Amino acid sequence: MGRFKSQQDTYAEFAEHPRYGRRPCFNDLVPKVGRDEKFVMMTMCRGGIKGTAIEADMESQHGAAYYFKYYFDEALKCVDCFRQFIFFAKEKKYRCDALGYHIDAVSTRCYDCRQVKTASKRNQKRYGELQHIENRTLDQNIEMAEICLSLLEDAYLGMGQVQIVRMLLNSIARQDETNGQLEPMLVRLHDYEAVAERIKADIAQAGALPGYNLSKAANLEMQFRAKMSDHWRQIRVSRLLANS
Ligand SMILES: [Zn+2]
Repeated sequence: MGRFKSQQDTYAEFAEHPRYGRRPCFNDLVPKVGRDEKFVMMTMCRGGIKGTAIEADMESQHGAAYYFKYYFDEALKCVDCFRQFIFFAKEKKYRCDALGYHIDAVSTRCYDCRQVKTASKRNQKRYGELQHIENRTLDQNIEMAEICLSLLEDAYLGMGQVQIVRMLLNSIARQDETNGQLEPMLVRLHDYEAVAERIKADIAQAGALPGYNLSKAANLEMQFRAKMSDHWRQIRVSRLLANS
């Protein structure tokens, strides 16, 4: 391949967007900005992709001392999976013109990682609701156990909360010992604990990180959560790569 790589291969490895694909949306629009239009900017100067301009609605833009007359597709790198992706002008237009986002706002995550982030927020909210139900049904216990496992993997919950999952799995087993969902969750919990033990041992060996104004226990916990979150992020990314 190498030097024969054609231009359109530039985007072959980009993360896919389910609606717009992985390549920029090229069109025939040639943007013009009049001389007297002060404070009008084009995202071209920040790495927008030539030939992808769509007209912006300047009336509905908020948040800065200038306006965008056009939006362009932009090539960015995802902060979670480190894949490149296109932040589409159409997405930008929707956010800024319809939802009123700050006009400098760009997405820091690819579509897949945005979904993961949204799911995690939804889980946090739902977890709070489920906690307040006194006599949970079997289905609610299953839902809560699944959510707890996800939140442990997201490092939103710490090791202290493993006990909650175990209690949930016990009550699921009591409520319906033949339940087919129990076994996969036990495996998941076991995986989580195995990874946690390994990471804890690594951290104990390395000791507290200097430069943080925290107690030793808090310092170790902080490192633990960061490493756990990183571990499961990598697992998700390898799944994404396997599917893309
Ligand atoms: Zn990503």
